[in-house]
Amino acid sequence: MNIDLHCHSTMSDGALAPRSLVLRAAEKGVDVLALTDHDNLGGLAEARAAADEAGIRFINGVEVSVTWRGATVHIVGLGIDPANRELNVGLESVRGGRVERARAMAASLKSAGIEASFEGAMRFAQNPVMISRTHFARFLVESGVVEDSRAAFRRYLVPGKPGYSPYDWTTLANAVGWIRGAGGAAVIAHPGRYSLSAAALAELIAEFRAAGGVGIEVVTGNHSTDQFRLFGALSRQHGLLASRGSDFHAPEESGVELGALPALAPQLDPVWRGLAF
Ligand code: AMP
Ligand code: MN
Ligand code: MN
Ligand code: MN
Repeated sequence: MNIDLHCHSTMSDGALAPRSLVLRAAEKGVDVLALTDHDNLGGLAEARAAADEAGIRFINGVEVSVTWRGATVHIVGLGIDPANRELNVGLESVRGGRVERARAMAASLKSAGIEASFEGAMRFAQNPVMISRTHFARFLVESGVVEDSRAAFRRYLVPGKPGYSPYDWTTLANAVGWIRGAGGAAVIAHPGRYSLSAAALAELIAEFRAAGGVGIEVVTGNHSTDQFRLFGALSRQHGLLASRGSDFHAPEESGVELGALPALAPQLDPVWRGLAF
C-alpha cells in the first residue's frame, strides 16, 4: 500500500486546495493519505470528502509548530479528532501571531531593500491567518529577487538572515498533549532538518516520549537516502514507530511528489499499524 502521511493544502502553505490535493494524491497512486496542514484543521472536511469521491482512504492530520530550546521543531499529529476542543483552542493560540510576525519579517526585508513583501506574500496566502515563510519565499521568487524557493530560504527567511523574525510557537509538551488528547498519534516531523547534535536529538526524543509521543518520520521528502537509514535505525533504538510522508507543498516547488517516496524498510514498525483508516 502507498501511504503518505504528510502534506499541505492552501489551508496552510500548500498551493493546492484540499480537494485538488487529494485528487492529485489518488492520481499519483496514494492509497492512504493524511493531510497535515500547519497549525490548523480547516482543510480536513473537504479533503475527507474528496478522498471518498476518489476512493482512497484518509487520515485526519495536523503539523504543530513547536519551539524547543530556541529551535523550531514540527510535530505531526495523525488520527486526531478535528472536533476536539483543546486541540482547536491550542492550535488557535499557536497560529495567532502569524500576521504580526509576517509584518516583522517584511520590516526586516525592507531594511534589506526589499519593498512591499507583506502584501506580496499575502497574495499567495489563501488563508491569511496562516501566512508563512513559504508565502514570502514564493513572493521572493516571483519578484525575481531569488531564482527558487531553496535560495529564498538560504539567503533570506532563516535565522541570521534578513526576513527572519524569531518567534515562540508552543511547547513540545503542549503539542504532544493536544494531539494525544484528541485521540491522535504524535510523530516528530523530518528530524533530519533540525540542526541538532546527536545528543540534543536524543534529549528531544526523550522529552517527546515522556510527553506521550510515539513516532518519528523516517522516509520524508526532507531526508536523503542515508537519512532514511539513519532515522530508521534511530526509530528502532528508541522504540518509536516509523512514518512516511512526502511533505508535498506544490507541484512546481522543490520537494517530492505525493506518494513518490520509497517504502519504509520492512524491519521498521509503521505508525499506521495503530491508526484507523
Ligand atoms: P513558517 O511556519 O512560517 O516558519 O514556515 C515554515 C515552512 O517553510 C515549512 O513548513 C516549509 O514548508 C518551509 N521551509 C522551511 N525551511 C525551508 C527550506 N530550507 N526550503 C524550503 N522550504 C522551507
Ligand atoms: Mn510548510
Ligand atoms: Mn515541517
Ligand atoms: Mn510539513
